[in-house]
Amino acid sequence: MENYENLAKQQRAFFLTGQTKPIDFRINSLNTLQNAINKHEKEILAALRKDLNKSEVEGYATEIKIVLEEIKFSLENLKGWMQPKKVDTPSFLTGASSVIYPEPYGVALIIAPWNYPFQLAIAPLIGAMAAGNCAVLKPSEFTPSTSKVLATLVRENFPDDYIAVVEGEVETSTALLKEQFDYIFFTGSTPVGKVVMEAAAKHLTPVTLELGGKSPCIVHSDAQITTAAKRIARGKFLNAGQTCVAPDYILVQRQVKEQFLDELKDAIQDLYGEDISRNPDFPKVVNEKQFKRLSTFLKDGTLYFGGRTDSSRNFIEPTVLDQIAWTDPVMKDEIFGPILPVIVYDELSEIIEEITKRPKPLALYIFSESEAVQDQILSSVSFGGGCINETLAHLTSPYLPFGGVGESGMGSYHGQVSFDTFSHRKSVLKRKAE
Ligand code: NAD
Repeated sequence: MENYENLAKQQRAFFLTGQTKPIDFRINSLNTLQNAINKHEKEILAALRKDLNKSEVEGYATEIKIVLEEIKFSLENLKGWMQPKKVDTPSFLTGASSVIYPEPYGVALIIAPWNYPFQLAIAPLIGAMAAGNCAVLKPSEFTPSTSKVLATLVRENFPDDYIAVVEGEVETSTALLKEQFDYIFFTGSTPVGKVVMEAAAKHLTPVTLELGGKSPCIVHSDAQITTAAKRIARGKFLNAGQTCVAPDYILVQRQVKEQFLDELKDAIQDLYGEDISRNPDFPKVVNEKQFKRLSTFLKDGTLYFGGRTDSSRNFIEPTVLDQIAWTDPVMKDEIFGPILPVIVYDELSEIIEEITKRPKPLALYIFSESEAVQDQILSSVSFGGGCINETLAHLTSPYLPFGGVGESGMGSYHGQVSFDTFSHRKSVLKRKAE
């Protein structure tokens, strides 16, 4: 097995020189990263096309623009985030003052998944750099072209002692996890999240776990059905459903089901054309293993729309499955592909009971015009984050911490919360000697 002891040691030595701490260093580094992304834009898009058949438009919007926005936001706000914060001091500590100093943890390990292989590697890296850390980045082995571009981009612009990319499979991740890091930021599946946390516990290393799960999408009878169908189609089938916060399944109230399904079919065809098998820009399923896993779900319930596949190119058509029961195989684990099961309900209380029996979702979406309905769901279901009358968009705001709860993860990031995540808050009480 490979050994990363030296890399971790080198980075720690570099960190201890103190070079990464001044604001100028952080700003220069973020600017360098920004320029490198712009310079490598074509290669990044070509790699995303190769790995996942992402179109240039989709690749740019969901992988490049989103991280450039994150860098811009960090550059604009870094000075304020870095300021020590004066806080109150209780009156019994006469003559004392209290200050919280944000300080970098040191050396961070970032492990990334394959579904947004560029964005989900770079976005946490921005937080780590803004907070003044060194970082080792381990991209996913299932998107090798993007992983290679990431490695080149980092190698060309940063010394290994400061930022390093380590490419490799599970063994590489396992070997990295043996080393002592000061922070571990993991994005991936819930089972692997547990492995990462166990490894981190050996060194008492704090972790952020950005995991997955089944994210419900509720369409209540008073929703604007046309809008709901359009926004759900867009959110579900982006990246062929391989989005951690994609609506995993639909819960639709009985009286609007037919109308909803009808509108959903139109919305899918508006997005991808009448014959989606001929759409050259529809993303592929990442690999044969995932293709086979997803294909077994196609026989669940009754096929309402789609269902065609092409194993030669890991293509699965956007598919809607009707007459689904909670006990069907497709309802067991996160789907993570372009298959959308639909379950009908009569009363809100039924679905609230079903959702709360299951692991806490990463995302939840509510389509309803009634504040009472929205409030009832928000006050009774715990989930990472979500939207009312929209899908996915909460993830794009730097003002909303993004992360899961329970089995969908712990900790969060984006905007200032990324900086906070990679910073220790050092609390200091200062008192006069006399
Ligand atoms: P994964 O957990 O299989 O792999 C993620 C990373 O962990 C990869 O770099 C992989 O090499 C490494 N890894 C795999 N097995 C390991 C092991 N036993 N020990 C150590 N490292 C290991 O996840 P994936 O298939 O790449 O991604 C899909 C999952 O990620 C889905 O569950 C999805 O919901 C979740 N996800 C979550 C978010 C989020 O922000 N919350 C974002 C994207 C994906």
